[in-house]
Amino acid sequence: MDDLLIRGGHVIDGSGVPGREADVAVLDGRIAAVEPRSVRSARRIIDARGQVVAPGFIDIHTHSDFTLPLNVRAESKIRQGVTLEVVGNCGFSVAPVLSDRAQMQREYLASSAPGLEFRESTFTDYVAAFPPTSVNVVLQVGHNTLRLMTAGLENRPLTAAELGAMERMLEEALAAGAWGLSSGLFTAPGNFADAAEIHSLARVLRRHGATYSTHMRDESDHVFEAVREAIAVSEATGVHVQIAHLKLSGVDNWGGAAKLLAEIEAARRRGLPVDCDAYPYDTATNPLRNLLPRWVMEGGIPAMLERLRVRDVRTRIRDEIARSGLTNFGRIPSWNVVRVAISPQMPENAGRTLGDIARSRGVDPIDAVADYVVADRGETRVLITSMTDADVHEITRTPWVTVGSDGNALAVTGVTGQGKPHPRYYGTHAHVLGPCVRDLRLFPLETAVAKMTGVAARALGLRDRGILRAGAWADVVVFDPAGIADRSTYEEPHRYAAGVSTVLVNGQATIDGGEHTGALSGRVVKRPA
Ligand SMILES: [Zn+2]
Repeated sequence: MDDLLIRGGHVIDGSGVPGREADVAVLDGRIAAVEPRSVRSARRIIDARGQVVAPGFIDIHTHSDFTLPLNVRAESKIRQGVTLEVVGNCGFSVAPVLSDRAQMQREYLASSAPGLEFRESTFTDYVAAFPPTSVNVVLQVGHNTLRLMTAGLENRPLTAAELGAMERMLEEALAAGAWGLSSGLFTAPGNFADAAEIHSLARVLRRHGATYSTHMRDESDHVFEAVREAIAVSEATGVHVQIAHLKLSGVDNWGGAAKLLAEIEAARRRGLPVDCDAYPYDTATNPLRNLLPRWVMEGGIPAMLERLRVRDVRTRIRDEIARSGLTNFGRIPSWNVVRVAISPQMPENAGRTLGDIARSRGVDPIDAVADYVVADRGETRVLITSMTDADVHEITRTPWVTVGSDGNALAVTGVTGQGKPHPRYYGTHAHVLGPCVRDLRLFPLETAVAKMTGVAARALGLRDRGILRAGAWADVVVFDPAGIADRSTYEEPHRYAAGVSTVLVNGQATIDGGEHTGALSGRVVKRPA
């Protein structure tokens, strides 16, 4: 007898083929059968008439390693049907932390991971201590983290000994089950690395059959060079490359999406294993300090805070931004498109724009920004509306572009329910399945499902998830195709998505009748040795 039979639903299996009426049987955490009008008996029957039954969604690019220990129920994700999160992205991972570098790591990640403790840990310790959660988790080790442990925030090439130390830490993480390495070449200390350093680490990955994902060196005025740099890693080493949150930021780059996608598609046609993901929003989020010229952060956070008090430094920042726009984001129309999301020292400012803050204080915007970074000890996170809808839609509609929220698993209550974080943390997948299918008509529902299941599993090299077929893990979502929608907004982000009635994680009902059951049946999915 099966554990569960999901009966009468419209099965969209994740492969991209048209949906069909079928029942889905689950036994011992796996899918036992997918067949029309099944006569199998089960301990429990779930009536899915009028609803879609699909593989659980893969959120291929997230930072939930910063919040899952504080929100093990993974509320904002599981309520959209997300059953697997890939974490450790953009060069940032919680481990490894060497004994004398815990404080540096804490300062470095404070604006991304408030509330998380950082203590000495190998990657093996980290995996062993990772708590049971409601979603499956694929862990990556971060290049920025490895460089922080090796050369701190020093802007220089590594010595051979330092590179060797990084390679050993990478191998230790891979042996512990890490899926691969992520880079964050857009910010210190990742941006201090040259191509040769990345290729050396990529060769280690290739030897172990592991993957490389990258938040590229540039997403604005030099985004084409950055895409070529990412493709070259695959070309030189044969490693699989995942380009994260593909976008064109800054007004001078708007309208370039089709051309950018064509570059990646050409590499794929040459047979290179290159994939990319995107979130369906025109607004990004980042620490406020990352908008400033890169030299501002040299030497670490305390050095940055000292530097930002100096008048001449501010003049230099003002000139550079006037000349070439914001670091990472390019030229913006004004500081009215930069909004405080989370401000640990001044939470009352969440939702206000930097333009508004400057005006109300009667100061120049650059002074307002520098003062803000200093007063908030570099820990402020902001939202930056720096993309155009046309590009976002062009990227989102592409069938081989997977869906990554670049967001954290949050909950409306508790420590993760603070500030005004990006709505993508609550709504990415529901937005793609609802508004992008029904209102924008970017693609049929089967394509939307495939982008976040089968296509994502293929990009990751995950063999037994992301597809509804006998033998695969029973990560399953049941949702109302007419009702699924995101409800999180920039003004009121802490709102769960609507329309998901049932979610199974490794066969366990985790959302049941639209409610969280408290089940913590997710596991760390380790790279097969
Ligand atoms: Zn990133």
